[in-house]
Amino acid sequence: MMRLSLVVPCYNEVEVIDRFHEEVSQELAATGRPYEIVYVDDGSDDGTLDAMVKLADADPSVRYLSFSRNFGKESAMLAGLRYATGDAVIIMDADLQHPPELIGRMLELYERGFDQVIARRNRVGDPASRTFFARAYYWLINKWADVELVDGVGDFRLLSRRAVDGLLELGEYNRFSKGLFAWIGYESILFEYENVNQPERKSRWTFRRLVEYGLDGLLSFNNRPLRLAIYVGLLLTAVAAAYTVWVIAVAVLRGVEMPGYVTLIAAITGLGGLQMVMLGVIGEYIGRIYYETKKRPHYLLKQTNLNPADNPSHQN
Ligand code: UDP
Ligand code: MG
Repeated sequence: MMRLSLVVPCYNEVEVIDRFHEEVSQELAATGRPYEIVYVDDGSDDGTLDAMVKLADADPSVRYLSFSRNFGKESAMLAGLRYATGDAVIIMDADLQHPPELIGRMLELYERGFDQVIARRNRVGDPASRTFFARAYYWLINKWADVELVDGVGDFRLLSRRAVDGLLELGEYNRFSKGLFAWIGYESILFEYENVNQPERKSRWTFRRLVEYGLDGLLSFNNRPLRLAIYVGLLLTAVAAAYTVWVIAVAVLRGVEMPGYVTLIAAITGLGGLQMVMLGVIGEYIGRIYYETKKRPHYLLKQTNLNPADNPSHQN
């Protein structure tokens, strides 16, 4: 019989983790399949780890991993996927924004042969500005990047064993999961669910983090921004050359004296700005190369009820 794994990244979720565990266990039991829940404590400082240990003491299907500090959700998901042993793995947030009652439906679709069953939330109740920026961003990234991303699709999804193995083969340090999920391919199906807003606390996604995350997505999957820099540079050089020819022609043929400082300032500031942007673009890529070449692990484990050596897919 197929085994199901649930991977749950948790950062300071002590308030909801018990309720989450209860609800999710009910749904999992209702599927009638053997299952395990892999909780990953991403360096919480609010007692989330203690809560996990308690859950593990009471429930043999609980596995937990705890990081030495906060490494971010991407790393937590990676760790969970490495240690999950199921034939299918569902990734879920601990804050109950991903409705546990969808587990049954995901499993059904998996059994119909899909490797990725992707839950897509609608944006009901989201701030209008966020929806607007999200739409614009997805439009841009889908025009530019080499992978296609869908608005409203996050990490909440079921993955088949081979999809998980595929993801684990992608060894990059900078993990932009949305892109990685799309990169691996396989049979995928999308289904929509009602947006659940977090009543208890504000989202950790500040505007700045969203912008940084957005840049990650744009830069992780192609080198077109670098190429754009070249095109813009060429275009500007052409414009500057044409302008110079025109100024000289006017001065020589008509003997007109050109007041030069306006164009000078415009050219200096305009070109200066563009050069900064292009340097920034190049810098972003070099920064990425820098991180990749260091080959640092994505996380360090502090505590777990699993034997790290047991797991064949454990390598950083
Ligand atoms: N999370 C994590 N590490 C972090 C931030 C978040 O493991 O550094 C977990 C968090 O506990 C939750 C999930 O990732 O289970 C989504 O986080 P959050 O609810 O803050 O994000 P949002 O719902 O706003 O996308
Ligand atoms: Mg959330």
